[in-house]
Amino acid sequence: MKILIIGGVAGGAGAAARLRRNDEKAEIIMIERGKFISFANCGLPYYIGGVIEKKDDLLLQTPEAFRARFNVDVRTENEALAVDIKNKNVIIKNLISHKTYKESYDILVLSPGAKPIKPPIQGADRENVYTLRNMNDVFTIKDYITEKKPKTAAVIGGGYIGLEMADNLFNAGLSVSIIEAMSHVIGPLDGDMAAEVHNHIRSKGVSLFLASRAVGIDEAGVTLENGNKIKADIVIMSIGVSPETAFLRDSGIALGPRGDIIVNKELKTNTEDVYALGDAVQVTNILTGHPQLVPLASPANKQARIVADVIAGKKVKYTGAQGTAIAKIFDMTVGVTGLSETHLMSNNIQYQKSVTYSASNASYYPGGTSMAVKLLFEPGTGRLLGGQITGKKGVDKRVDVLATAVRHNMTVFDLQELELAYAPPYSSAKDPLNMAGYVAGNIIEGMCKPIYMEELNNITEDSILFDIRTPEEFGNGTIGNAINFELDKLRNNLDNIPRNKELIIFCRIGLRAHIAQQILEQNGFKTRNLIGGYRFYEQIKKDNITFKV
Ligand code: FAD
Repeated sequence: MKILIIGGVAGGAGAAARLRRNDEKAEIIMIERGKFISFANCGLPYYIGGVIEKKDDLLLQTPEAFRARFNVDVRTENEALAVDIKNKNVIIKNLISHKTYKESYDILVLSPGAKPIKPPIQGADRENVYTLRNMNDVFTIKDYITEKKPKTAAVIGGGYIGLEMADNLFNAGLSVSIIEAMSHVIGPLDGDMAAEVHNHIRSKGVSLFLASRAVGIDEAGVTLENGNKIKADIVIMSIGVSPETAFLRDSGIALGPRGDIIVNKELKTNTEDVYALGDAVQVTNILTGHPQLVPLASPANKQARIVADVIAGKKVKYTGAQGTAIAKIFDMTVGVTGLSETHLMSNNIQYQKSVTYSASNASYYPGGTSMAVKLLFEPGTGRLLGGQITGKKGVDKRVDVLATAVRHNMTVFDLQELELAYAPPYSSAKDPLNMAGYVAGNIIEGMCKPIYMEELNNITEDSILFDIRTPEEFGNGTIGNAINFELDKLRNNLDNIPRNKELIIFCRIGLRAHIAQQILEQNGFKTRNLIGGYRFYEQIKKDNITFKV
């Protein structure tokens, strides 16, 4: 059995290692265009910021060590130019000798990944404009920073890689601007949840240009569509990636509209004995059943094992992706899993939602901070469709629990029941996900009658904004022309509260408002609880999303 693998990093090297563990006798050849194999793509931004200090720490394996351990014929600086599926061979160019040769295969595994998209803007080919994909890119950027000592940087694209680069360039001492064409950073995050991230980025002194398209780059920096000029001695372009499959175009291997390789659940292409995985393949979203690209390391690593096991004859399948992702953005962490509200809305999928703020630790334990948890769930059943969490501490473990819950079709009521590890240094006895489950459950069961921030735009004279925080909190700022009735004085003042209007109750995060809602509803008032409370409102307002009130 002769197995030829194209691509020698996350998917390719992972598949090669598992193939060897499955079969000691197979001949395995791994073709990699670059000089390095199995390097830490995800760690690259942190080398720029100095968090990862040594180049070698980015290398998980050298070709020599990989050869020695797995008996794989590793050919770096070799590029696959074309695949001949009829004769089962690949045309390969040795990039050092410039000689082209044919390599036959019994089985072909494709893991060529995805390349950064370079927008066709003027000046994109200047010396100080970079994309980041591999070791060569990161060394070139680092050398430029060391030698030319740029003072200002512009990052075009506010996705995960763009923001990680902004964070690390900032850590490297540069003054950073982020330019994002959409109205918010991180596509899979909803705009309301992105507001706090925007405010945090700005609080660091980083300039954030949202809904701004870069149209040109010159010696002074980046020009935006509206004519504004952003000063930049160095420019990083990170507007997304596209499957690197040009070499397969005429092969007969089926590709999707974006050049993505089409595979089935066993990661087989339409072509006999050709498998594919990683950033280059189309995967099925487990929630929608629709095909999509999920260029992330976790799916690629899982697929590497599955592809090798399918080749070994095992009955395994890749069941699909849900887009779980996490990023460190300065001092904040942003985690997402499943479908966003934006996606649900634009695909006409019925949903309900909750937004809660909970402490990362027991309230009395020093160092705890608050995290925002947004849940999206099916009306009626409460089946989880997605979730987003932002905060400074403990976001990672909650998003992983949530990802597990989404993967296993759990409901918001299941979240209430989760018995999660607790001691004050780590959590609170009612974990943020238990709390999110309670609130979402209350919404489904009607105990919480919600109103959402975006609905504030539509409230009429038939409603009153009803702030039940303390007079001190009220004095420090409220929503519109709200009236103040402190929660603890409510029961004795019921006669002074208007009964002919709907009361839009809010407190800081929604907890006191929930108590107030029960008191008032049980006394015959019509109420709604402003989900996310004043804290959520304040973040959204600060981010310049304006409300009529
Ligand atoms: P790759 O790992 O990109 O490997 C593909 C290899 O194939 C490349 O080395 C390429 O040179 C080679 N190749 C392509 N065409 C040919 C050819 N014709 N002939 C020979 N060789 C070829 N994911 C996360 O989940 N979390 C993160 O924090 C994260 N951070 C990232 C940060 C950066 C800067 C980058 C670039 C990516 C990050 N990712 C992250 C994404 C993650 O690295 C990818 O999802 C993963 O590496 C995909 O594996 P792959 O094997 O499909 O592609």
